Amino acid sequence: MKNRVIIITGGASGLGYATAEELASREANITLVDYNKEALDASKKQLEQKYPGVKLLTVVADVSDQQQVKNYVDETIKTFGRIDGLYNNAGIEGKQAPMVDYDVDVFKKVIDINILGVYYGMRYVIPIMQKQGYGRIVNVSSVGGIRGVINQTAYVASKHAVTGMTKNAAIEYGKDGILTNAIAPGAILTPMVETAFKEVNPDDPKAAEHEYASRNPTRALGKPVDVAKAVAFLISEENGYISGQTIAIDGGESRL
Ligand code: NAD
Repeated sequence: MKNRVIIITGGASGLGYATAEELASREANITLVDYNKEALDASKKQLEQKYPGVKLLTVVADVSDQQQVKNYVDETIKTFGRIDGLYNNAGIEGKQAPMVDYDVDVFKKVIDINILGVYYGMRYVIPIMQKQGYGRIVNVSSVGGIRGVINQTAYVASKHAVTGMTKNAAIEYGKDGILTNAIAPGAILTPMVETAFKEVNPDDPKAAEHEYASRNPTRALGKPVDVAKAVAFLISEENGYISGQTIAIDGGESRL
């Protein structure tokens, strides 16, 4: 992926950071975006240590703020001159609660980050990709974008929306050389999922983790690198004809 320019949102942790490492190993130029400045600085340091020579731009931005999204896109163009891939990965889970008790303010926050954040990214990147006649977009949905998940109404609603927007981007902009897909991770061990296990069983989060893993067809949770390898393919030129799909990376969980 030498000289390809890829933007990764939510790049300072979990799936975003793992994908940054995978793309750095393939010599891509990377814009890492996150609203957590401290974590972003630490990720920059770690990436530059592991991959000396990596061309890396970091931008602090909240993806739910339209102006800040426009800014990370503008900064990328100023620095690298083009955008080949957008990995729309930043997202939050919200709080777990039965549907009728769900906190509406939390619901709105989940929608702002998980839906509008993904939408704004595509809104500003697609016109650039159209001019180039080339682009690859990978949006992060979830198993919760394929089926329901008890106590996660807002998250499930937002991830179904990501699946829907992905289909629309694919059919509206395929003619411009832009292929858009979503991934639907199952339980991949990242800080977000560790927090979720703490919510399920505050006294023994490890027990919650083992219980969840035991229900997966593979009897295991996924690793961030499992997701990173799939994203690296979808966001590269190696993907020549896959578009509009939501690809589960879940050890088969969504087929149960
Ligand atoms: P994580 O919490 O480890 O990392 C998310 C990163 O996104 C953090 O660095 C955080 O600061 C950043 N972020 C959050 N909101 C942001 C915002 N508004 N603007 C900019 N940055 C923001 O989580 P993760 O597990 O790596 O999750 C990444 C994506 O994968 C999310 O969209 C999540 O819903 C999705 N996902 C994860 C799993 C899993 O099992 N880990 C499963 C399904 C889907």
